Amino acid sequence: MTTTEPIDREALRRKYREERDKRLRPEGNEQYIEPKGRYAHFLDDPYVERVEREPLTDEVTVAVIGAGFAGLVTGARLRQAGIESIRLIEGGGDVGGAWYWNRYPGAMCDTAAMIYLPLLEETGHMPSAKYVPAPEIFAHARRIATTFDLYRDALFSTQVTELSWDDTISRWIIRTDRGDVMRAKYVSMGTGPLHRPKLPGIPGIETFAGHAFHTSRWDYDYTGGDPAGAPLDRLGDKRVGIIGTGATAVQAIPHLASAAAELFVFQRTPSSIDVRNNHPIDPDWFATLEPGWQREWLLNFATLQTGGFAEEDLVKDGWTDIAQRIRDRVVEEISNGAEFTPETIAAAFEASDDEKMCEIRARVDQIVADPATAEALKPWYRQLCKRPCFHDEYLQAYNEPGVQLVDTDGKGVERIDETGVWVAGRHYELDCLVFASGFEVGTSYSRRAGYETVGRDGVALSDRWAEGMHTLHGIHVHGFPNLFIVSLTQAANLISNVTHNLVEAGTTIAAVVAHAEATGAEEVEVTAEAEQVWVELVSSGGGMGILGNPDCTPGYYNNEGKPMGRRERLNSAAYPAGPVAYFHYIDGWRTSGDFDGLEFRSDRTEPARSPAS
Ligand code: NDP
Repeated sequence: MTTTEPIDREALRRKYREERDKRLRPEGNEQYIEPKGRYAHFLDDPYVERVEREPLTDEVTVAVIGAGFAGLVTGARLRQAGIESIRLIEGGGDVGGAWYWNRYPGAMCDTAAMIYLPLLEETGHMPSAKYVPAPEIFAHARRIATTFDLYRDALFSTQVTELSWDDTISRWIIRTDRGDVMRAKYVSMGTGPLHRPKLPGIPGIETFAGHAFHTSRWDYDYTGGDPAGAPLDRLGDKRVGIIGTGATAVQAIPHLASAAAELFVFQRTPSSIDVRNNHPIDPDWFATLEPGWQREWLLNFATLQTGGFAEEDLVKDGWTDIAQRIRDRVVEEISNGAEFTPETIAAAFEASDDEKMCEIRARVDQIVADPATAEALKPWYRQLCKRPCFHDEYLQAYNEPGVQLVDTDGKGVERIDETGVWVAGRHYELDCLVFASGFEVGTSYSRRAGYETVGRDGVALSDRWAEGMHTLHGIHVHGFPNLFIVSLTQAANLISNVTHNLVEAGTTIAAVVAHAEATGAEEVEVTAEAEQVWVELVSSGGGMGILGNPDCTPGYYNNEGKPMGRRERLNSAAYPAGPVAYFHYIDGWRTSGDFDGLEFRSDRTEPARSPAS
């Protein structure tokens, strides 16, 4: 879809700033409620019955905390490296992480399955479609666990409560809410970047007497239906409200719209909804792919999505589209005599984004029948300021009878009472309220993980990182020997394909553990110097880029619109030369055999084993 009218860039800029200013809140990230205390039930697992078991006091070689893709790919690589004793420890009732919890109707991944689903070649799975639904992703997580025998020794429905280093035995002690006090020689933590649900801090939220749940704990007993797409057949006589219009709500709303007697969508900021164009994958074509194809696809996507050149766009989607538009504009400007400067790139970015966002707003007009609703659904900010969404049924849902968009003009829901929701002085009576309010970002690592990690000399990770993350490669922390963190931050930070980062981290961790085991090391730890050099390198990058721009609406991508201090910058820092350069760098680092920056210690005399308590 293209627009033919010329764009008044100044007017657009003014509009973006006005809309952003409406949404800036002095409390920033503090506006959200943590699901604890009287809100703790929002975290209950609706998918399994808790089974009691005896506490464990044994020892494993590697404990992997978190059995989402971070833990699974690390476990798989460890298995491939010959490590026998691996224990997954997971709060959910199975593997899958985000895909265990997020079973809301319509859940699927916006990143193409050919690159999003990890270890496709290793597991022999062909994705059913370009973008696959959540049950297929969950099944793939289970497939990885089965292929690499990771269910053996795994503990589910088990929340780690404390992780502490015992220097006298060079082991980690892991305590859990099941009374376990286990030892592990190494610990890998993959507790996820978007893991802990948050609730909107709306006055009166605790008073609602109808049925309420967070999207990551979908209550199918109440709504009817199932994650595979069966209709939500118990909502036929219900007035349902949903708070939030982010990536989750966009996927769930079409299902609620067709099932509920009435649906009220409470919107603070509209998402940008680009085309999705899903299609099945042809098995004959899939069979022609040569071994090594997934690595090639991963690097092709990462290259194009970050402004690089490739002969072919293998994935060809909304992510690579916007990036190539910007890149091609920069090339055009340079061929017209402009210099290759940050200003040239910024101008090309703005022009491409203006064009893209005009298309996205025009698409709303084309699909949504009611002009006032269409107007309210238009996003007025740059596409990458918030998570871009891609959907071919979301906007159409507003044409269904019984569906009402309640736009709050950037202010959010006013208050909640026993029977419903108030917006602009009007009361909306509801039977059920769904919180599509997202997940904690920017809170401390320990708060999100749900436990504290205490390293050498009793130093807590929260204190060590009080002024921001300090790591080598996002993985190793000085003072925390034999501990590895699987994350995006201070590494590639490729957010358009999270699992690519996780596979690289898992592969690196397995290489380090294999080397330590092969050389008889008892401890492996990053030196203070190597950590410092890396922190300086990743903090030398370009800051917030477009996210610091006043055209950007507040959200979790930009610290809710508040200026970023050193802590926030470190917590979202990335390798300055970009994701592809990082992937090449880390591949060289781990295959060279030098493991620069790490110290492997095997000189510890056989320590006196103390009881794990
Ligand atoms: P988000 O944080 O993206 O969205 C939360 C929503 O709640 C926003 O619309 C927010 O409005 C709204 N909200 C918060 N407080 C209030 C309030 N007081 N009144 C009214 N509305 C309020 O969470 P999601 O669960 O949608 O998505 C989280 C992330 O998970 C995504 O960004 C994405 O990374 C991932 N994801 C990916 C999917 C995919 O691949 N398709 C699908 C689902 C999730 P406002 O925008 O104004 O802050």
